[in-house]
Parts: sequence; C-alpha cells; structure tokens
Amino acid sequence: MYSPSIQNLIKAFKKLPSVGQRTAERFVFYLLKSGKKEVGELTLALKELIDTVKSCEVCWNFSDTSPCPICQNPKRDHTTICVVADPQDLAVIEGTGEYRGLYHVLRGQVDPTDAESLTKMKVKELLEGTRNKEQGTIQEVILALNPDIAGETTMLYLEKELKSVNQEIKITRLARGLPMGGDLRYADEITLGSAIKNRIIKG
Ligand SMILES: [Zn+2]
Repeated sequence: MYSPSIQNLIKAFKKLPSVGQRTAERFVFYLLKSGKKEVGELTLALKELIDTVKSCEVCWNFSDTSPCPICQNPKRDHTTICVVADPQDLAVIEGTGEYRGLYHVLRGQVDPTDAESLTKMKVKELLEGTRNKEQGTIQEVILALNPDIAGETTMLYLEKELKSVNQEIKITRLARGLPMGGDLRYADEITLGSAIKNRIIKG
C-alpha cells in the first residue's frame, strides 16, 4: 500500500485525460526518483500556469494577456472570425499560416450524451460578438469544428443561431478533404491550410 502523500498525487494525476492508475503511478515514482530539481521545475511551471494564463475575453483562447495578441493585432482581418472547439485547434490553424482573421474558441462541442454541453460552451459570447459592430463589422464566420457527429451538430446549431442574430453574415465551413470522424488537430498543416483557403459558403 502506498503512503497517503503518494496516493494523493496518484489520485490527482488520474484526473488528467487518458491517465489511468498505472500511468499515474509511473508519473509519481518517476518524480520521486528524479529528485528535487525536476519536481521544483514542474511546480514552478504549474504555478505560472495558474498565476499568468487567463482567458482572452474577446476570443476565449488562453493567453498571458486579455485581449490576447491575436485579438489586439491591427494587422489581422477583424471582419472574419474562425470558430474552433478548443485552443489546440486554434494553434493548428495558426500553424498553417493560411489564416489572418480572428478566432472564437467555443471551449467544447455539442455532446449528444451531455445535456449540459451547450450551456458550457461560449455560444452566447460568439453571438454577442457578431452582433457587436464596435470593432469593425464581422462579415464572415468560418465554422472550423471537427469533421465528426459532434462537430456537425454544433455547426448546424451555430448556423441557425448566427443567422438569427445577423442575417447579413456570411457563414463558411472548411473544405472537404479532412478525414471524416477525425480530429481537426491531428490534420496535417497542408490539408488544413487548403481546407481554409477553399472554404465552402453555407449562407
Ligand atoms: Zn483573443
């Protein structure tokens, strides 16, 4: 049986995605064997994460500043918003170098098995942002959600809601070519880059 301190840390690691009992144990004993310097670095990084990183109150990406550098950048196209499920998706789209507009991070997708999923997402903020004309009129919203059932359900829902607040808005989707059922963030940069360039007009 492990000591209470060891058990506590195992329990904490098990809360991370895809970490089970065995992996959590491996992490804990790795840290115990690796000594104070490495544990100190990890502690400092975790503290910095909590103290420094905040939500950008414009796009809901995580950033050290709010508004984040993308939202603040006058060289970006402030008339186009690309809607993504998670911050990692924003990072892969930025990685393609093909997109110069702004983003909106939903922080999730509609999950048919979770009735609360819709209320946890930043939909209201997206609709307010597209209605708000202060920062230059939003002309296009690109729906860049995962090519799977949850992503499809989310896009259909957003198309309807966006049109109800702003009939003038152009709604587009990423071009086909992304593997169906796949995860956007694992698509290669060339495929994703061309999917953005060749996006499909939905309304
Ligand atoms: Zn931002």
